[in-house]
Amino acid sequence: MELEKKPIREFRSRVLKVLTETPTTKTLVFDLKGVDFDFYPGQYVMLHVPYEGEVLKRAYSIASPPTQKDTLELTIKRTPKGRASVVLTEQTKEGEEFYIKGPYGKFLWLPEMGRNLVLIGAGSGIVPLMCILRYIVSAKLEHVRATLLYSNTHYEEIIYREELERLEKYSNIKVVNTLTRSYPPNWKGYTGRIDMRMVLKEVEDIPANLYYLCGPPQFVEDMASLITDLGVDREQIKKEKYD
Ligand SMILES: Cc1cc2nc3c(=O)[nH]c(=O)nc-3n(C[C@H](O)[C@H](O)[C@H](O)COP(=O)(O)OP(=O)(O)OC[C@H]3O[C@@H](n4cnc5c(N)ncnc54)[C@H](O)[C@@H]3O)c2cc1C
Repeated sequence: MELEKKPIREFRSRVLKVLTETPTTKTLVFDLKGVDFDFYPGQYVMLHVPYEGEVLKRAYSIASPPTQKDTLELTIKRTPKGRASVVLTEQTKEGEEFYIKGPYGKFLWLPEMGRNLVLIGAGSGIVPLMCILRYIVSAKLEHVRATLLYSNTHYEEIIYREELERLEKYSNIKVVNTLTRSYPPNWKGYTGRIDMRMVLKEVEDIPANLYYLCGPPQFVEDMASLITDLGVDREQIKKEKYD
């Protein structure tokens, strides 16, 4: 399918709000007023982050849906010993300005591509998947069915936890969480890594869906081989690796 490319824009934008998502993750809400910026759900921008006299250029997926015109949200998880992510999650304040360029990327979804989606993410890999879910909800795409399989180490690290709980009220959206390292006593989700048993139980009509995989490179490759082993054609799998 040939897609019209969205024009790449470069602009400076002010942080309007800093939201705490988890102990290691923040969402920065940028002002888009007066900027003619459009993108497809799933795409990312390059953010320029001043760091000790240099400028680090880092890719961040867009968290807010394209239906939200006045603000752009990026969700950043602190990488242990990381540079840009530490500045963005620990030092950035409302009112600061950043240089943004984008949108980029082929990891995107539009309704014409297919109506049955399976979104599989780990940690900050939820961000472009959440953009897709937010788009489905805000554009009222009730005919689209989406199943999210989301893996985290600990309960406290589930990004967008409350919003994901609220998404469960939509009959066309299913959210499945798993925790790999620790879990609270009353935990009702899965424990351990996403595996064949989980996919067979939670995903309907496995070969017919479009699959979006996002997270650390090894996670994405493991998930891709898991679903191809279950009979999914490689052409139906899109991958975004956060390396
Ligand atoms: C398309 C795309 C989209 C992305 N979207 C998101 C997103 O939405 N949210 C998000 O949180 N992230 C996202 N990322 C990841 C993001 O771009 C950064 O890679 C991440 O924030 C880490 O950047 P950093 O500058 O903090 O880490 P860096 O300073 O670049 O460090 C990266 C790693 O190298 C190690 N390291 C650093 N310095 C050294 C050293 N001297 N010796 C040994 N090891 C070292 C660090 O421990 C760390 O693990 C995305 C990546 C891609 C490619």
